[in-house]
Amino acid sequence: MNVIAIAAHPDDIEILCAGTLALYAQNGHHVTMAVFTDGSMGDAAIKPDELREIRRKETEASAAVIGASLIWGGVLDEHVFPDAAQRKRMIDILREADPDIIITHSPGDYHPDHRYVGQLVFDAYFQKGLPFIPNQDLPACRFAKAQVYLMDNLGGIGFNPTEYVDISGVFDTKKKMLSCHKSQVEAMRDLANTDVMNMIELQSGFRGLAAGCKYAEAFCRLDAYQRGLTSRILP
Ligand SMILES: [Zn+2]
Repeated sequence: MNVIAIAAHPDDIEILCAGTLALYAQNGHHVTMAVFTDGSMGDAAIKPDELREIRRKETEASAAVIGASLIWGGVLDEHVFPDAAQRKRMIDILREADPDIIITHSPGDYHPDHRYVGQLVFDAYFQKGLPFIPNQDLPACRFAKAQVYLMDNLGGIGFNPTEYVDISGVFDTKKKMLSCHKSQVEAMRDLANTDVMNMIELQSGFRGLAAGCKYAEAFCRLDAYQRGLTSRILP
């Protein structure tokens, strides 16, 4: 299967679903990590042009840990909107990955970039397989009925998971991937007084408590027309 996780910022995927991606990779599936923005606004001291390059390299290092392909969306950080230009970009991202499974942000997320990325994924979903959509850079991919999973949010606020993935066996891989984002580990500590390594320990541990294992990641399946499932496809 082709699996894609699409998140707004470098490090979102690592915090919220990297363990699940690691399991998919371990099971021989092709994994793509798509980061929609350039992450250039994520520091109070490092200028955007410099930070953009740092964050791209950090994300490349993280993807390499599990052998995932990386798609860099290149949209300006903090400027995600569900407009025509960004929908075009999202359609091409989905076409490049040709996914069977899509993991993205949920509508109740705290960050507008997260919410709009989730909206754009939903809006681009049908267009990816339609060959006559004008102005796209890539040809249509399969008109597959890709299953969409909405991932947990930071702190799990208002998110009621319907499915869990036991990531106990790959939690060290998740930590290794997040630690690639050195600039954000430091920025979150300085700007938000938050230890992100501890955050994933707590949140994965809490989700694990609910699921009956040591560490888990939590999801809601997006139910929509012709996307009913007859078997589980999460690891
Ligand atoms: Zn984010």
